[in-house]
Amino acid sequence: MTGVTVIIVLGGLALLAFLGYASYAIEAQVYMRTFCRKKTTEKVVALTFDDGPDSVQTPQVLDLLRKYQVTATFFCIGHQANSQPELVRQIVREGHLLGNHSYSHACTFPLYRLRRMKEDLRSCQRLLEGISQQPVTLFRPPFGVTNPTIAQAVKQLGYTSIGWNIRSLDTQILLADHVVDRIRKRLSPGSVILLHDRLPHSAEVLQKTLQLLQDEGYEVVSLTQLINDKI
Ligand SMILES: [Zn+2]
Repeated sequence: MTGVTVIIVLGGLALLAFLGYASYAIEAQVYMRTFCRKKTTEKVVALTFDDGPDSVQTPQVLDLLRKYQVTATFFCIGHQANSQPELVRQIVREGHLLGNHSYSHACTFPLYRLRRMKEDLRSCQRLLEGISQQPVTLFRPPFGVTNPTIAQAVKQLGYTSIGWNIRSLDTQILLADHVVDRIRKRLSPGSVILLHDRLPHSAEVLQKTLQLLQDEGYEVVSLTQLINDKI
């Protein structure tokens, strides 16, 4: 290996370690207040979907949510929403909440300077508000990464930062049953579950998760209910 290759490999490993720590840190709330779960003994949970809308998976996810008569929050990526405005409208029309997941979702987003970061977030907010005709102030940091710059941007833009306490790892675990097993082991009252509506097994994971919640006697509530209601 040349010196340059070693530097690239070490840089990549350092970035992975950073992302791993920072993703954990969203629950630790090292840099900013982030709603990750509700302290309650009631069997309620909120479902959240990141990285959509996706032309193939999001409609299937919406069909299942309608079938089970539950609502969720969709943290949309701006450039995805820009190419799928009708899906954004459908999400809102069917009673779900929209959240800002940045316009670019670039892997370098956490390293942006404050001005660029705010512009990216505002672009996503403007787009989602333009399509949905409603305010969009819920925000989920891309990759769940938080740092002082993101904390400052969120504060200045007046967003409510949303994390999770159940990371399904559906982006890494290929078998839906294994994803749902992981959720089952972590299931507790007041949980916020992180899922994605862009994966080949998104619908299968959701269907099995909804069945699990039903079997365990859990009620699915919206994020705003979980945050604001006396549950
Ligand atoms: Zn994401």
